[in-house]
Amino acid sequence: MHSMKPKEILLLGPGPSPVEPKVMEAIAWPVLGHLDPDFLAIMSETTELLRGVFETGNNVTLPLSGTGSSGMETAFVNFVEPGDKVLVGVNGVFGARMADMASRCRAEVVEVKAPWGKPLDPGDVEKALDANPGVKFVAFVQAETSTGVLTPVEPLVEMAHRRGALVIADTVSSLGGVPVAVDRRGLDIVFSGSQKCLSCPPGLAPFTANERALEVLRGRKTKVPSWYFDLSMITQYWGKERFYHHTAPVSMIYAIYMALRLVKEEGLEARFGRHRLNSDALAAGLRACGLRLLVEDAYRLPSLTAVCVPEGVSDLDVRGRLRREHGIEIGGGLGELKGRIWRVGLMGYGSRRENVERLLAALCGILNDLGFRCSADEALAAAARVYAGPAARGAAPSGGGRDGGCVK
Ligand SMILES: *Cc1c(COP(=O)(O)O)cnc(C)c1O
Repeated sequence: MHSMKPKEILLLGPGPSPVEPKVMEAIAWPVLGHLDPDFLAIMSETTELLRGVFETGNNVTLPLSGTGSSGMETAFVNFVEPGDKVLVGVNGVFGARMADMASRCRAEVVEVKAPWGKPLDPGDVEKALDANPGVKFVAFVQAETSTGVLTPVEPLVEMAHRRGALVIADTVSSLGGVPVAVDRRGLDIVFSGSQKCLSCPPGLAPFTANERALEVLRGRKTKVPSWYFDLSMITQYWGKERFYHHTAPVSMIYAIYMALRLVKEEGLEARFGRHRLNSDALAAGLRACGLRLLVEDAYRLPSLTAVCVPEGVSDLDVRGRLRREHGIEIGGGLGELKGRIWRVGLMGYGSRRENVERLLAALCGILNDLGFRCSADEALAAAARVYAGPAARGAAPSGGGRDGGCVK
């Protein structure tokens, strides 16, 4: 029989990210019944490890059966009731997706927008909260993967809580790569995805909610409009009762169990440091090539770097050649940034020096071919200075005020 087995591609896009070999081994473990005692032990261990990476003591902490968007859906359908006021920060595709989900729950949605490539402005959020008394939920994306922006969440949480609102946070491309710190930051309802900085295949959505959020759930006047994502039933399977709700995706749970063990083994601080270092090296290399970055350094997301496509160069040509000639995938822009940026993900197992160097060399080669002059040697040297440490880094070029937009 003809095999359709694809060849391996180095995944340096917005996700999925490269999967650790040990995780792929775990996927091949024997499939057990979803109530088998050996499988239940792995489930218990998985929730404990998930609490570790979320940095939370929340009882309700589990991986939902579905991709990151299923975590988003769970957050909205369980907690938001018709007529609730929900403020949603929108500075990219995923904020817009949250606003859409809130409106499907028939919430009164207040959108607070920021330009794509910029973080949410706490001043704008405060103004909107003042203008709309009684907001019940404040939802935002910590790491906007569509633009590579990391929004500082502390001021938003403080404003929400001061008014008695709960926070819904999208941490899909931050969990495991950037501090999320659920308890320390007081995030009430939080979801993520398995295939970004956790380096597991797509298919699960880590989720956690605190006691204040669960009180809102228990006080609902109407039934949760989704059967599959009804948390009160799902938690009876993940909790002590072990009531069957739906068949657990057993092999995927093996995978995330192993991925989380590897996160724990590395240590969160080391992992955050690694993501930051490789991202800084990549940024230095790209700038040394004469490329501009979309996001200024203060808000640049360590797991995803958005690079402006230079004048006269075709986005699709470059991405096509990277894949065909070098076996590397990077992402293109979405929405208003389509054709204007490349999105380079250095997530989880993908965040490694050899990948930074492989991409810089390949990209410079292609750009030169297309008539955009840049030196791979200089790019690699700039990255090497970042790896050599802060002393050597003094000479590394920062954006020099050139970053922060990809105007053509
Ligand atoms: C990837 C992503 C999602 C959606 O996750 P899927 O796994 O594609 O459903 C949501 N939010 C952010 C910030 C993401 O990066």
